[in-house]
Amino acid sequence: LRLTVDTDIPAGNAIIEAVEADLVRLRPDVRDTTEPWFWWHVRARGCAGRRLRLVFSAPNSLTVRGAAVSADAGLTWAWLPEYDPAGWEFSVEAGRHDELRLALAPPYTRENLDRWLAGHDGNPALTMQPLCRSRQGRSVPLLRCGRLDGAECRQAVLTARHHACESLASWALEGLLDAVLAGDATGEMLRQRWQFFAVPIVDADGVEAGDQGKRRAPHDHNGDYTDHPIYPETAAIQALARQRLDERLTVALDLHCPWVRGHYNEHIYIVGSPDPDNWRRQQQFAAVLERVRTGPLPYRADGTLPYGQAWNVGDPSSPRMSCSRWMTAHAPGAPTVASFELPYANAGGVTVTPETARAFGRDLARAIAELDR
Ligand SMILES: [Zn+2]
Repeated sequence: LRLTVDTDIPAGNAIIEAVEADLVRLRPDVRDTTEPWFWWHVRARGCAGRRLRLVFSAPNSLTVRGAAVSADAGLTWAWLPEYDPAGWEFSVEAGRHDELRLALAPPYTRENLDRWLAGHDGNPALTMQPLCRSRQGRSVPLLRCGRLDGAECRQAVLTARHHACESLASWALEGLLDAVLAGDATGEMLRQRWQFFAVPIVDADGVEAGDQGKRRAPHDHNGDYTDHPIYPETAAIQALARQRLDERLTVALDLHCPWVRGHYNEHIYIVGSPDPDNWRRQQQFAAVLERVRTGPLPYRADGTLPYGQAWNVGDPSSPRMSCSRWMTAHAPGAPTVASFELPYANAGGVTVTPETARAFGRDLARAIAELDR
C-alpha cells in the first residue's frame, strides 16, 4: 500500500511537495497571510509498519517539542516521543496504525467544541446561541455560562481564535468554562455570582479551513476593531459589548498563542496594556493568577510583557485596534482587560497539551473567582 498524504480534514493545511516511499516533503501553506507562518496539519494513510519522515522546506515549521501526532483521527494527541529541535524534520513510527494525523500542535475545531458541548448537554448553567453568521455562512457560537437567570451578577467576556491557527487558546478556554460548570466550591461560586459570555472560535471560517489567520491580508480579525469592521465576528463582538455588557463587566480575556518558539514564546504571559489603569489591573490579576495557580503549567506575574517592550509596541493611537485595546477603550465598566499568550508546546519547561492547557484555563477561572473575594 502506498503512503498518501492530504489536507482534506478540518483545520488541514500544508503544501505537500513530494511523497517518496516513507519520506514526505512539505511546508505550511501561508495562503493570505502576509509573512511566513507555521500552521500545518495533515492526514497520512497507508502508514502501518512505516517509519515516516517529514522534512520541511520552510524553517520555523516545528515547535521545540516537534509536532503533535494522533492515531485516532484527531480525538487525542501526543507530542513526538523524540525530536531534535535543531532540525526542521522528524521521524515517527506508525506501528500498527494505518492513519496518522500530524500537526504543528493539537488542532481545535468546531468538532472539538461540539464534543465539549455534548459533554455538558442539558446543563442549565450553559447555553449556546449564534453570535453571528460568518462570511462563509457558518453560525459562530456565543456561549453563555454561569448565572443565567437575570439576577444581579458580574459579567466576563472570553474570546479565543481571533487568529485561526492558535489552537491551544481554545483548549484553555474549554478548561476555564469547565471550571465554571464544575461541582466544586469555585464552580458554585462562579455560577452564583458571574455570567460569562464566551466566543471560543472567533474566526470560524479560518479555523475550519486551517488558515494561519494571523496577519491575514488586508488585516486579521484582531486588527479589525475599527469603526468599520470587515469581519462579521468582529462587528458582532463590538455589538455584544455595546448592547449586552454593562458596568458589571469585570473581566475581558482574549486568549492567543505566540510565535512558534523562542524568547517570549515559551512562557505564559499577559500582553501589557498601554492604558495605565488597565495596566495596573493586569498586574493585580497576574499576581492573583500566580498565587492561585494549581495546574502543571507554570505562570509568573513577572513574565508579563510591558507595553513598549519587545514586540508589544503597536501605536496606541491607531484606529485599527486589537480586541483588548478596543475593550479597554469602549467596553462599559472598568474591566480587567488582558490578552494572554499561551505557547503551543513549551511553557516554562512544561509541555503544553490539551490537558495541561485546560488546567491553565481552570487556573484562570480560579483567578477570576478571586477578584470577588
Ligand atoms: Zn494571536
